[in-house]
Amino acid sequence: MGIGDGTLAVGAGRPPAEKYAPALPGPVFAAYYHLPGEPEGPYTYGRDTNPTWTLLEAALGELEGGAEATVFSSGMAAVAAVLLSQVRAGDIVVMPDDCYQTTRALKERLESYGARVRTGPTAADAQLELLDGARLVWLETPSNPRLDVCDIARLTGAAHARGALVAVDNTLATPLGQRPLDLGADFSVASDTKALTGHGDLLLGHVATRSPELAESVRLWRKTVGAIPGPMEAWLAHRSLATLQLRLDRQAASALALARALRHRPEVAGLRYPGLPDDPSHETAVRQMRRFGCVVSFTLPDEAFAERFLGALSLVAQATSFGSVHSTAERRGRWGGDAVEPGFIRFSVGVEDTEDLVADVLNALTEAAT
Ligand SMILES: *Cc1c(COP(=O)(O)O)cnc(C)c1O
Repeated sequence: MGIGDGTLAVGAGRPPAEKYAPALPGPVFAAYYHLPGEPEGPYTYGRDTNPTWTLLEAALGELEGGAEATVFSSGMAAVAAVLLSQVRAGDIVVMPDDCYQTTRALKERLESYGARVRTGPTAADAQLELLDGARLVWLETPSNPRLDVCDIARLTGAAHARGALVAVDNTLATPLGQRPLDLGADFSVASDTKALTGHGDLLLGHVATRSPELAESVRLWRKTVGAIPGPMEAWLAHRSLATLQLRLDRQAASALALARALRHRPEVAGLRYPGLPDDPSHETAVRQMRRFGCVVSFTLPDEAFAERFLGALSLVAQATSFGSVHSTAERRGRWGGDAVEPGFIRFSVGVEDTEDLVADVLNALTEAAT
């Protein structure tokens, strides 16, 4: 790739300049298209194809380093599209036991369809031990919410040697943070609800692959299940991509500054950020990531302390999800379902001024302690 990430993001998927045409054509609202005679594409019916998706999919394909992308109505629609379109009864699926909790909830669905699911932790590439006979290996790195990292190239090499496909949930990093397809994975999957679109105002997901056959099967899944994004969301997502590099760079710089500031605070335990040089994930992360993301996680002494801390923040909204330009934080244990301590905080760093954000967090810690 001869151009920088900012140049790539700002122009991704935009059509060539044409006199009197807008730089990014607006959303196309269409259930059907005029279609006399033989029903040939590209635009046949609104559940199959839409010109606004076409432009966004071109952009995502470019960001993924050259791939065919398929957009979905949410991250989970994209996750489910890969897991459920590629796995048959009798197949073995390997999944992390510490990935996004709704992805883990698909384990029972897969089992009810006759697949067998093996799970292991993300840290230390533990899934290497589970690969024999597998049809599909699911990775999520960095993992949400504990921020462990696995070696994508190493796991993919071992999985391919056994004939298994590999999918990576790349939600946290985004394609400007890490490119799973360049590391050998068959699918790069993401919730674009998070950092990729970054404004906390839409849900969207995508699947990218360099295999025309796999892309075709994912598209057929979308057509038959109907998990399609609205044109307005697709257009907003595309519009957001122009600032992707700016947002990610600011968010990652502030996340590192926040992690550094939290390091020596006595109230903070289990601090994790893959960009911190002494983080257990750092060595693997630097090998495969170009930006370390916007999520910092840490554990406060107990639930009450954590709630006081969240209540004392003035620049940070209490909310789930991550990746928005607005900082958000939550006590992750309130949902159940993740193996986290009661005082565990998942903190998503926005684009506020770094000093303001760090000061707000340190101040809230002090208030929570008194
Ligand atoms: C949020 C998230 C999802 C699901 O995405 P939605 O857009 O909420 O459906 C999947 N994987 C990871 C890692 C996530 O953080």
